Amino acid sequence: MTSIATLGSHCALQLLKGAKDEGFKTLLICEKKRQGLYKRFKFIDELVLVDSFLEVIEQRCTSLLEKNDSILIPHGTLIAQMSSEQIESIKTPVFGNKNILRWESDRKLKQKLMDEANLPTPKSIPSPDAINELVIAKRHGAAGGKGYFLASSENEYNKKRDQLIKDGLIKGDNDLYLQEYTSGVLAYLQFFYSPLKNELEFFGIDKRHESNIEGLSRIPAENQLSMEKFTSFNVIANSPLVLRESLLDEVYKMGENFVEASAKHVPPGMNGPFCIEGVYDENAQFSAFEFSARIVAGTNIFMNGSPYTTLIFDEPMSMGRRIAREIKQADLNNQLEYIIT
Ligand code: AMP
Repeated sequence: MTSIATLGSHCALQLLKGAKDEGFKTLLICEKKRQGLYKRFKFIDELVLVDSFLEVIEQRCTSLLEKNDSILIPHGTLIAQMSSEQIESIKTPVFGNKNILRWESDRKLKQKLMDEANLPTPKSIPSPDAINELVIAKRHGAAGGKGYFLASSENEYNKKRDQLIKDGLIKGDNDLYLQEYTSGVLAYLQFFYSPLKNELEFFGIDKRHESNIEGLSRIPAENQLSMEKFTSFNVIANSPLVLRESLLDEVYKMGENFVEASAKHVPPGMNGPFCIEGVYDENAQFSAFEFSARIVAGTNIFMNGSPYTTLIFDEPMSMGRRIAREIKQADLNNQLEYIIT
């Protein structure tokens, strides 16, 4: 029988616990420095020790995973640490659509897919000299919000950009994407699309705790004004959220539109887990600033199921377990080719 493998970071514990619950052998590609943590968990059958996650495309890992008939589950760390070319060159079967990860990493492709899916999005600002309102400058890829900053003018932008260059986080303007800053209630909408059932499941919602932007709101304005510190949106933790029920219909429609647009533009489409990330404004209108075309770490909150999975499944269902179940089902029906790339 097939085994399930992933990189030791992000949501590896959830993924491999879910895989074990569904009866799979589990393998973790683990940096040597992290083996102490992962050895604590009995549901991990085998640690494949590496110095760097990039070794997942090298011969030693590839043949070990092949010997174990492994399917690799991609997550944020894969995207953060590997280029799109490297991801596309992975020989081990990848759960979902590894080609759509390029669309997640590249801000322009990302915007295109969100437009194709008819998702309302904040305006993108073409260049720093066009800044005439509050904007957020974001790095490409799954940077986890680290080094993102706010600016209301070109001057302010230049100053903060230069600081990021000095800190070694970016090389120049091309490493930043400018977007209108939208304020309201942030919500990260988690979905699973099953190509086997041709059905979209809404899994849950999380909210992110980002440092230091979250801490700034606890500091009175007069003290903020005299601070030299820049804002940053580094994700530290997640917590659960439930939406007003009247907003749920729109959530499903957004998810379905995204699945449909992905099938058209990035075959074989958005199979498996994904997340639409954005803000509800004062009129309860959603604006999507981002999508993740794979499992997000915010699903870790729901290892025992979420309020929304309770409505679909009669047992605790994490996203990790749902993925494993999809693989099990596909394997039983000889349909693995529909769920991997
Ligand atoms: P992202 O990498 O696009 O997920 O952005 C990281 C974080 O930056 C988000 O979790 C938000 O807190 C914030 N953010 C990104 N884009 C916007 C936006 N257009 N308006 C307001 N906040 C944003």
